[in-house]
Amino acid sequence: MSKPIGLLGGTFDPIHIGHLRPAISTMERLGLGEVRLLPNYIPPHRATPDSAPEHRLAMVRLAVAQTPGLTVDDRELRRNRPSYTIDTLTELRRELPHRPLCFLMGMDSLCSLNRWHRWRELLDHAHLVVSYRPGWTADFNDDVAGLYRAHGTRDRELLHRRPGGCIYLIDNPQLEVSSTQIRQCIKAGNNPQYLLPDPVTAYIREKGLYQGPVL
Ligand code: ATP
Repeated sequence: MSKPIGLLGGTFDPIHIGHLRPAISTMERLGLGEVRLLPNYIPPHRATPDSAPEHRLAMVRLAVAQTPGLTVDDRELRRNRPSYTIDTLTELRRELPHRPLCFLMGMDSLCSLNRWHRWRELLDHAHLVVSYRPGWTADFNDDVAGLYRAHGTRDRELLHRRPGGCIYLIDNPQLEVSSTQIRQCIKAGNNPQYLLPDPVTAYIREKGLYQGPVL
């Protein structure tokens, strides 16, 4: 079977090292063929992003440009309507019928997975590979705990042998950084260097992003 493909959905408003380092180390540790970054159009469960979709996409493109193995998939932005992960996974599964798909997320996302559209069906199409994130533990509500009991595994070989259906918690180094923190930092006139790639910082400066009220 070919190597699994990693998928990382997000608002990326802006993209930062808390997205990029877990993506790289998951790819290396699990032997993924690549990790595709999928910027959301309008995330269904969140406030509207601060920056226009074209800026968020441009920043993701800049971030992955020099990183082997990371690619960008802009299908959710091209849909021009709210993006649901289940729709994206269904579509990818149709394109890649037998390929193992690993949907990467942070622990905060797994903890609230039961608020996602058709959340129980996500595992029909992909594995969930979850990185720990400062401030979040595997302290699940009843719905997520039930899902984890049914699908959780510590056997990383299963992620290669099966096309989807497993939840795997991966112990990547944790980075205490969020897009919210970066937006606040820029708004306050402080320097966000080393929290995100330099070309992304330069793009933010050039376009004057995140100068308005922080959402
Ligand atoms: P915001 O602060 O605007 O809520 P964010 O920093 O959480 O944004 P998103 O684009 O919403 O970034 O996150 C996309 C995915 O990346 C989510 O699954 C999230 O859990 C994960 N992620 C974001 N930051 C980290 C981090 N520091 N460590 C691990 N995972 C992270």
